[in-house]
Amino acid sequence: MRYLSTRNNKIDLTSAQAIAKGLSDDGGLFCPESIPAMQAGDIEMLCKTDYQGRTQYVFDKFLTDFTADEIANLAKNAYGEKFDTKEIAPVVKTGDTEFILELFRGPTCAFKDMALQMLPHLMTASLAKTNEQRTACILVATSGDTGKAALEGFADVPQTKIMVFYPENGVSDVQKLQMATQKGANVSVCAIDGNFDDAQSAVKVIFSDDEIAKKLDAEGLFLSSANSINWGRLVPQIIYYISAYCDMVNAGEIAIGDAINVCVPTGNFGNILAAYFAKNMGINIGKLICASNSNNVLTDFFKKDGEYDKNREFFLTNSPSMDILISSNLERLLFIASEYNSEFVCDMMNSLKTDGKYKVPAEIFSKIGTDFDAGFCDEKETNATIAEYLEKTGYLLDTHTAVAVKVYKDYKEATGDTTKTVIASTASPFKFADSVLSAIGEEISENGLENLDLLAKRTNLAAPKSLAELKDLEVRFTKSIKKETILDEALTLINL
Ligand SMILES: *Cc1c(COP(=O)(O)O)cnc(C)c1O
Repeated sequence: MRYLSTRNNKIDLTSAQAIAKGLSDDGGLFCPESIPAMQAGDIEMLCKTDYQGRTQYVFDKFLTDFTADEIANLAKNAYGEKFDTKEIAPVVKTGDTEFILELFRGPTCAFKDMALQMLPHLMTASLAKTNEQRTACILVATSGDTGKAALEGFADVPQTKIMVFYPENGVSDVQKLQMATQKGANVSVCAIDGNFDDAQSAVKVIFSDDEIAKKLDAEGLFLSSANSINWGRLVPQIIYYISAYCDMVNAGEIAIGDAINVCVPTGNFGNILAAYFAKNMGINIGKLICASNSNNVLTDFFKKDGEYDKNREFFLTNSPSMDILISSNLERLLFIASEYNSEFVCDMMNSLKTDGKYKVPAEIFSKIGTDFDAGFCDEKETNATIAEYLEKTGYLLDTHTAVAVKVYKDYKEATGDTTKTVIASTASPFKFADSVLSAIGEEISENGLENLDLLAKRTNLAAPKSLAELKDLEVRFTKSIKKETILDEALTLINL
């Protein structure tokens, strides 16, 4: 399997090269040249194996330059004791047609762990495989969850340094503290006075700067990415959709071949794109339902036949990991829908850069339009959903997952579709304890950590250990900078 740049399909790399590099020099994302198909009998076989076995299956299809032994080690090392359940990504039934896929059972309590517990192992293996002697400087723009998950994954990993930039006013108290207390000799964390799109755009500029690349190279360094623009982030996310399908077969909820829907709380479009890959590999997924908060640029994209327009008000919401107006991974979907036409993708991305918008021609949009449905909900509806769900089902949702639950409810009412639906749950409610407490009508404390205790008392649930421990950890990073100075700061942190 070869990997092409979405902005230059003549660039053609192995998976190890694509993962080590992160982003293509032309600013494009690496994308497999085709989507491998599952064979008859594969799902049956996967039903009988565990999460590690399902990982091996997916990696075998996409990482064809890795040996079976290497892949087996990756699966074992990434998906082990750091997760608080042996199933890694369990499926919980909450209604007749409703199933919550819990993707937050890793060390930082957000679904980013599903990929970022794997990426450092993939990166180390890829550096060795490509004979890369230089140190990878991992530059991360985060809306909160990626930062901590990447820090946790890469801390003290040899031959890597990691630098994280997050929006000062765009993350929860718990998220901020999780990052500020990160241990490890190769890590740094810095706040910026902008939003996630500012951080992501700055990081992308640094990546496509030849001068910087040369300077770094002279010092035995190179830049790489742990954002979902890195293919190594995407590929582990395909696993859990296949795994969820198998778990539903095993639970007798569906028979092999039956359709399910998938509903995903979406920001950068990575998680739902992984579901699109699972569907096109051969998992029978009817609709991919894209759920947004008030930053509903993707809802409009799907409802308005491929018109993407980021010229709109940006909202800070209580589902901050979805406060995004430039969904990077949509670029991979456009590349696939256009049959790997990089000129077309360049046109769209140039138009996005200059006008803040683009329109996908009907003949291309028709290839994807029917796969997806989309909806959004505002903060008020998010809060009402959390309260209602707790009362009706006894299940406590976080703010992001609540957005998806509400959008699914609207979808079901509007269409009458009763296909069993997997709703991706992307964070532990304790990670957003203040928002969740106010959603269920409780007083919140000024001190973010006290809210963990308050939420635990109110719901009789225990806060995850890694969050409960935060109050005892030393704060290491407090710096905040102007967004215009990210480049200088990054170079300083790298020691250039
Ligand atoms: C990152 C994140 C999302 C958005 O996922 P994308 O892959 O960027 O679409 C949703 N919810 C939570 C809690 C997240 O951390």
